[in-house]
Amino acid sequence: MGGRGSFSGAGGGGGYMAAAKNANVRRVDGKPPAGKEKEAAEIINGANKVLKDFGIDKGINIITFDDDEKYAASMDGLGNLTIGNKDLSNSTKARAGWLIADNPAGTGAHEAGHRVAHILLRKSMQGEKELKIADARSKGKMEKRIIKEATKRYGSNPSISEYGDKNSKEKVAEAISDVYTNGNKANAYSKIIVNVMKDINNGKFKPRI
Ligand SMILES: [Zn+2]
Repeated sequence: MGGRGSFSGAGGGGGYMAAAKNANVRRVDGKPPAGKEKEAAEIINGANKVLKDFGIDKGINIITFDDDEKYAASMDGLGNLTIGNKDLSNSTKARAGWLIADNPAGTGAHEAGHRVAHILLRKSMQGEKELKIADARSKGKMEKRIIKEATKRYGSNPSISEYGDKNSKEKVAEAISDVYTNGNKANAYSKIIVNVMKDINNGKFKPRI
């Protein structure tokens, strides 16, 4: 029983294995730095909260705690979540305004935002060739469409955070991070962006990609 990545006998440990199990994660590889298990659980819970709210089951496939990963976290198109142990060890915060929610739950929610956008893209492009979907994903076509619609509804396209100004993909992820971490205190524009995503998810708004 047990072994690398197994859930058996994995109680305690700051709850990160329990968080992974709760999120229906298939496997966990590696482990967070000692003393950072709680933060690791918060990243996973932050991501799961978003995915659950969008009705996405098993949105996170495999979680890897990576000693070499330079980012706080990243999520690929298959839902594999990589968590950077270097960033997890480093308690210094990014400069103010760089990220909308500079905390572990905010990091998890941000990555889940990328995942949700990808799933919405797949929904909207059902029946299309995989190559075409992959191309649309890399170009951020869904995120551009979301921001276009949100801009129309809000009346402008204001900044959410410095990182969110990078491109539509990051803006969408930052809006998700804002709403699911800051709740009612979230930026009004973030809420509009998330509403657009909800409308796409439930079929109320059907964007042409
Ligand atoms: Zn991002």
